[in-house]
Amino acid sequence: NTWLDHCSKTKPNGKKPPAEEKKQYLEPEFTKIRVVDFDLKELVVLPREIDLNEWLASNTTTFFNLINLQYSTISEFCTGDTCQPLHSCAMTSCSSIMFVRGKKTKCTAPQYVDFVMSLCQKLVTDEEIFPTKYGKEFPNSFESLVKKICRYLFHVLAHLYWAHFKETVALDLQGHLNTLYAHFIVFVREFNLVDPKETCIMDDLSEILCTPAPPPAPAPAPSTPASAPSPSSQNHVTER
Ligand SMILES: [Zn+2]
Repeated sequence: NTWLDHCSKTKPNGKKPPAEEKKQYLEPEFTKIRVVDFDLKELVVLPREIDLNEWLASNTTTFFNLINLQYSTISEFCTGDTCQPLHSCAMTSCSSIMFVRGKKTKCTAPQYVDFVMSLCQKLVTDEEIFPTKYGKEFPNSFESLVKKICRYLFHVLAHLYWAHFKETVALDLQGHLNTLYAHFIVFVREFNLVDPKETCIMDDLSEILCTPAPPPAPAPAPSTPASAPSPSSQNHVTER
């Protein structure tokens, strides 16, 4: 099964294909491993008295750095030989048809990751786009650039799961990856930064990881669903 096959079977409305190949990263053995276990939603909501753009900027920069770091742990395994063009092409055609301005560039996954991560780095370190100096204004294009960065970061995260989960497990970094992924997904959902049509390819994992973990012991007390992110509200995203 290729990524493309998977995607063509997965409907953007969240309906699951009837039968799926076994994905190692979905096994409970791995999804239960997390570095931290608390409601991620609390971490991502805009704190009072903090400017929205400031909040988006600092979080986006942090995610870029963390995902870059996570990718670097397996980058030696991500080669033109192991990660064939099929991976990146499927990744691009499935996640975004307009990817690279409609140019269907054939490249290997490492070339793709290198391309998007260099671009992200250029953006997050550009003082005109991500101003760090006090009083400096954010550009009008700020929100759309943040969305672009988040879309690329999602592609890289998805590639880590699709092509490098074994190596991540071998390095015992799957807990970090899961935590990073869950935090990222909850963040982009909170601010509608990535089209759900793009993230749908990973919905099965998102569902498992982004739901607050159940209490350790089965308690008879009534549950409090109010604190859980509602799946229905997450899917209704207005894209401009
Ligand atoms: Zn790779």
